[in-house]
Formats: sequence, C-alpha cells, structure tokens
Amino acid sequence: MSRNEELFAAAQRHIPGGVNSPVRAFGSVGGTPRFFAKGEGAYVWDADGQRYIDYVGSWGPLILGHCHPQVIEAVEKAARNGMSFGAPTAAEIDLADLLCELLPSIEQVRLVSSGTEATMSAIRLARGYTGRDKLVKFEGCYHGHADSLLVKAGSGLLTFGNPSSAGVPAAVAADTLVLPYNDVAALEALFAEQGAAIAALIVEPVAGNMNLVPASKEFVAAMRKLTQDHGAVLIYDEVMTGFRVGLGCAQGLHGITPDLTCLGKVVGGGMPLAAFGGRADIMAKLAPLGPVYQAGTLSGNPLAVAAGLTTLNLIRQPGFFDALTARTAQLAAGFNAVGKELNTAFTAHSVGGMFGVYMSATAPQSYADVMACDRARFNAFFHAMLGEGVYLAPSAFEAGFVSAAHSDADIAATIAAAKRVLLAL
Ligand SMILES: *Cc1c(COP(=O)(O)O)cnc(C)c1O
Repeated sequence: MSRNEELFAAAQRHIPGGVNSPVRAFGSVGGTPRFFAKGEGAYVWDADGQRYIDYVGSWGPLILGHCHPQVIEAVEKAARNGMSFGAPTAAEIDLADLLCELLPSIEQVRLVSSGTEATMSAIRLARGYTGRDKLVKFEGCYHGHADSLLVKAGSGLLTFGNPSSAGVPAAVAADTLVLPYNDVAALEALFAEQGAAIAALIVEPVAGNMNLVPASKEFVAAMRKLTQDHGAVLIYDEVMTGFRVGLGCAQGLHGITPDLTCLGKVVGGGMPLAAFGGRADIMAKLAPLGPVYQAGTLSGNPLAVAAGLTTLNLIRQPGFFDALTARTAQLAAGFNAVGKELNTAFTAHSVGGMFGVYMSATAPQSYADVMACDRARFNAFFHAMLGEGVYLAPSAFEAGFVSAAHSDADIAATIAAAKRVLLAL
C-alpha cells in the first residue's frame, strides 16, 4: 500500500469521504487522491515523495506559485502581531483601497473568508437593494454552495452528475432561474417575461467550473443591457477570474462595469479571504449602514489580508500578466499542436492564467458542448499525466491554472508528457 492509499483509508474513518471538499476525493476520475506534503514554486510533492508540476494551484489562488518567499514572510510577520482580533486593523484599509484602485466598478468593498460567503452575501444585498426575490444564473456556472446557488451548478456538482443538491428547499430553488450560458435569445425572453421580478443576475464572466468556457461578446453586452433596463443588479462572480485573467479581471477584458463583483481565490494569496463590492449606493444597504445583515468573526483576518495584499502588490508589477498570459497560451498552443499532429479530439484554450483542456475536436461554447466531451478519455488522460508527474484538476469539468513560477521547461515537459500519453491511449 502506498502512503497515499494508507492516508486515504485513515482519512475516511472520521472525515466523510476522506476529504473536506468533494472533488478532492477523485470521485470523478477514480483512484486514490494524492495527499500533499509540500509545495514549492510550480511543484507539489505527495505523501509518497512523488513530485508533480502543479496546474491546480489550490484551485487558482497560487498565482505566484507555492510558498512565494515574500508572501510567506508577510504572513509570518502578521502572525507575530496576532492571529485575529475581530476588530478593525489598518491593513484592511490598504487592501480595500487597492481593490477600489484596481477595479473601477468597486466603490466600496467588504472582506469575507470564502467565495461562497461573497456570492451569498452579494445576492442577499441585491435582493435587499431591489426588494425583489428572483435570481438568474446559468447552467454549469458554480457560485459556491449557498442554497439558492446549488441549482444546475458546475464544479463538483457536474463531477458527480447532480444538477442540484439534496437539502435545498424547493421554495428556495424556485427563486433561481437557470438559463443556458452564452444564449442571448433565452436571456432576452426571460427578462421580457419576468424582468420586473428579477433582483440579480450572477455570472462567471469566463466560466471555469464547467471546464473553461468564455462568455461571448454578444452575451456579455446583453447581460449588461438587460439588467440595466430592468433595474436588476449585475453580479460578476470573479472569484476565479479575479486577478487571474488580468489585473483588471474579466470585467476589464470585457469593458463592462458590473454593479457588484465577487472576488476570492487569488485575492487571498492562498489564505481564506474573499470579498464583494461595487456601487456605493448598493453597498450602503449593508449593515451597519443599512438593513441587509452580513458579518464574519474572521472577516478581514490579518494573516489573510497580509497574504492578499502582498500577492496583489506583486502581480500588479508591469508585465506580470503579459508574461503569465503568454506562458499559459504557450501551454494551450502546445496541447493544440499535439491534438492536431496526432489527429485526435484534444484541444485547449486559455484566457490569462486560466486554461481548459477538452476531449473534443473544438473548444466548447456551452454546458451542452462540455457535457458532450469524452469523460472516460479525460479520466485515462488524467491518470497517465499523474504518472508522468503532472497534476491536473481531478475532473473533466475544472479549469487549469498556470503560475508565475511555471518555467518554459515545465511547460515543454507538460506538452511532451501529453503527447506520450495521447499516443499510448
Ligand atoms: C471557487 C468559486 C466559488 C466559491 O468559492 P469558495 O471559496 O470555494 O467558497 C464561487 N464562485 C466561483 C466562480 C468559484 O470559482
């Protein structure tokens, strides 16, 4: 028995499924999850001492790679001054100021501890602000695990083939209206019919929880126009795309000003930190100023703020995103070249530091396209890549992430491994 197998067996004694978040259990791809002992730069080492080039990066946060010395130093320094106060600190102001500077759509921002809290709170705020109940979301988009958002959600829910979750009251789900992604006609029809009842529309502006599917230009423009025309709040869920696809996030790439934005993952630099913010008139409805309640014992935690601030200050340096975008595009181009050379259904696409790998001849545009990809073939590819020392997300429905620590040699080695693996499949 390998150490990974021993640990997985031991973990299942007292942890449901042996994991603290479902996709980690390898349920979709099968086999034994790797228990990680250490990370450094672009690499992780498992409990058996096997090294992998890591394209998960803790599901996106580790844009500087594992254990960036300046981030570690900032966290250590903050820890020596106190782990948590449950009271305001000066560094929170620096982070809020920086977020408002980097994202013009954010006039006021509140820090929370997870992406789920950010989206859940943004939706409550949008409902409180508009006095309406209905929420529009899209098939295959994942916005965390709050009740009203677990309707046709992506990520682990796609992995397990559940369009929804048990335990979500029908009455709650009834207020969530689900539409196909990138379908402008469906969006127009829904707003024409129910526009006056819609509090908010929430979207992953580049969907990364049904593999990677970018929103089309027409779709992006329609979401902004329809919400504006009908007095609904446009919420960009940039928990994954925020500071991952560019310094101005997906809204910068789209040239769109959302009403509210949710941030997570990169913004916390690997620590539990997320945020939601936007128009000052909407944010003024939040307690203690307004009637919409939202709170958190560890919100604005000093260690998390230190990691987030340090990470943002490093990634805002000139040229950072040009280099990351080019490096990620290099990986996607290499994968596409392999697919072409071997004349096999294998394609890739990237946006900033995010990429998708698809077992299909062309990149998917919708949830239906994603579901049509060959999942069994992905699972075989995934395990063979693990054998080659490359750690991809353990599911055909998750985006991949490149960090600033990935070298040309890492990218070349990954492309070469993919070619060997696809030849053997
Ligand atoms: C990861 C993610 C979330 C949930 O964030 P957690 O920190 O896991 O709660 C929400 N929305 C999107 C788009 C995400 O990728």
